[in-house]
Amino acid sequence: MNQKANITMEPIALIRSCFTDKFGIPRQPGLVPAATARLEMLPPYNRPEAVAGLAEFSHIWIFFLFHQAVERGWKPTVRPPRLGGNKRVGVFASRSPQRPNFIGSSVVRLDKITHSPQGVALHVSGVDFLDLSPVLDIKPYVPYSDRVADATCGYAPEPTPSFEIIFAPAALEFCHAYQRRTGRHLQELVTQILAQDPRPAYHEDDRHYGMSLWELNIRFSFHQNTIMVSTIA
Ligand code: SAM
Repeated sequence: MNQKANITMEPIALIRSCFTDKFGIPRQPGLVPAATARLEMLPPYNRPEAVAGLAEFSHIWIFFLFHQAVERGWKPTVRPPRLGGNKRVGVFASRSPQRPNFIGSSVVRLDKITHSPQGVALHVSGVDFLDLSPVLDIKPYVPYSDRVADATCGYAPEPTPSFEIIFAPAALEFCHAYQRRTGRHLQELVTQILAQDPRPAYHEDDRHYGMSLWELNIRFSFHQNTIMVSTIA
């Protein structure tokens, strides 16, 4: 077989995620359970029979394209944030988006599947992918095979330590009003994201940051082990 087999893949779905900017996206799935997305199946894959039986699985694998990483190309070594951003490892010893075929793989909770005149949509949570990421494949998560009880985890043993998150009164009121209006659990989502410390590996203390969620901009700052959410607009 020609080693350079030229395969063309086409997206089967489009991700509509709460993460409309890369900053703030958790580094792995499942770390922010309140992070939601909708996978809008694309024709000709948006047929109910193509997902028949999938709703019986609590979790699914999503294989997607790191579409915002393609421009920068791939690198044979990368500097994972978990190593403080200065130690290099091989790209295949990482989950960096800067990889040869830019393929991401995430296990996410399947909350529901909806059917409408526009077709089929999969509603998922615990996501770590950017809005408008193209989906290449979807598979059921099969615990008896996918869960490896004695697996070890090299340089990224445990999730990062969490912080105390404090909301300014106006920001808290915004969360409550937004939830009443949209049903979205904004306070829970912001708390879970910030508890993962989204700052880049190199950062000064007491700095102010901004991140986008849906159409919103959230401003916050770090002070030792506390994060203050100052404004949401
Ligand atoms: N769980 C997936 C995997 O293992 O392939 C993703 C892990 S990767 C470290 C997660 C990060 O990829 C996110 O924190 C975000 O910064 C980045 N990312 C997510 N979607 C992306 C996209 N469409 N294009 C470029 N980078 C993306």
